Amino acid sequence: MEESSKVVVLLGPPGAGKGTQGALLTSSTNSRHISTGDLFRNAVEAKTPAGMRAESCLRSGQLVPDEVVLHVVEEYLVKASSCDSYFDGFPRTRRQAERFDELLERIGLGLTVVLYISVPDDEALNRLALRGRNDDSVDTARYRLDLYHSVTEPLIDYYEEAGVLVRVDGVGAEDTVFDRIRSLLAERDFYEPTY
Ligand code: ADP
Repeated sequence: MEESSKVVVLLGPPGAGKGTQGALLTSSTNSRHISTGDLFRNAVEAKTPAGMRAESCLRSGQLVPDEVVLHVVEEYLVKASSCDSYFDGFPRTRRQAERFDELLERIGLGLTVVLYISVPDDEALNRLALRGRNDDSVDTARYRLDLYHSVTEPLIDYYEEAGVLVRVDGVGAEDTVFDRIRSLLAERDFYEPTY
């Protein structure tokens, strides 16, 4: 990765729209979208060792163990070409966040912006029910949301203290939310559309 590459972490509950907004951001900029959920779903499909370890966690909505996640992300980052990156679904625990900081420092990048997309629980659960992925059943979705509140939400304070947190209201149409995100990132020189 080059010195000048930027890193944006999309943080928020399941159903916040991280995947949707990450895809919109990469389609309009010269960048990549790294969804750990997608990396794991692909690994499960391909029956890789990491996929085999992650499979039951994905199905039940548990978090994949930190060491497995960190290994997969590190491997991906080392292999992938250098450009701006939108991380979606990572980091999700304090340990992942700390190790991510170390990793970015090691490869010559500071953690740059964390975009916290907020949506109320009811809205998140409604969206998951509509999406209907196989880990979106009512019980599993509720479980993932609870896990988000207890394990991932504390990262908001972690990143606020680091001075890199940007909050955005995730309620509204996809385009409306995208417009909000674009202007928040552009204000900080983090959004450079290719058209
Ligand atoms: P959502 O945003 O709806 O939670 P994801 O695609 O981000 O969906 O994640 C799906 C599943 O993948 C999670 O429930 C978890 O099992 C696993 N997973 C993804 N990212 C991580 C991570 N950073 N740490 C641990 N588990 C993860």
